[in-house]
Amino acid sequence: MGEDGYRHQGMRKQLVAELERKGIRDPKVLEAIGKVPRHLFIDDSAFLQMAYADVAFPIGNGQTISQPYTVAFQSQLLGAVQGRKVLEIGTGSGYQTAVLNHMGARVFTIERQRPLYLRTKERLSRMGSKAKTYYGDGYLGLPKEGPFDRVLVTCGAPYVPQALLDQLKPDGYAVIPLGEGGEQTMTVIRREADGNFTRSTHGDFRFVPMLEQRAG
Ligand code: SAH
Repeated sequence: MGEDGYRHQGMRKQLVAELERKGIRDPKVLEAIGKVPRHLFIDDSAFLQMAYADVAFPIGNGQTISQPYTVAFQSQLLGAVQGRKVLEIGTGSGYQTAVLNHMGARVFTIERQRPLYLRTKERLSRMGSKAKTYYGDGYLGLPKEGPFDRVLVTCGAPYVPQALLDQLKPDGYAVIPLGEGGEQTMTVIRREADGNFTRSTHGDFRFVPMLEQRAG
């Protein structure tokens, strides 16, 4: 495993300050970003210099590690997750998973690309993460492990997968970037105690597409 030195810690401090300037306020989120060694979630050493810049970039298999601001924004929308069950769709590099772990969540995460799933499963366990990783199709959620307090989709969904709403606890909610094409609208869908669903939107973001079926 790579190292985490003073230089990296210093770079994380600067990243946290930048995210604060951009409007991230939740102290738990800022603390997690300040602690999780993002450079260890990037395989290509050509990108190491950029690990703490507020940008997204490729992690192989045509996928990306989300921009720190996006990770922070989605984590902030999830609210207090200490001890809560969170289902993440799109494990990718595992960085968002690790941030949620640091915030005290019990994370279950699904990835549809097998090579990525295998690589990240190994990385997370090496780092001592307790997150449970699954190879599968996020459109189906994880009926065996549900219901969940929160569902977090980290790819752009063309529509709201019904299975994900079905797997929410009452008063639980899903954070889903909705929309096809270049931009998605960050959407929060809450399952009210009476069983109705309510929605709110939180600005536009760019995600890789949420694709159907496993990629093998
Ligand atoms: N949370 C990740 C973001 C990775 S990008 C991180 O912090 O690095 C989104 C990921 O969603 C990609 O790895 C992509 O393969 C995955 N994905 C796309 N469609 C999916 C689906 N239907 N089910 C599960 N994962 C999916």
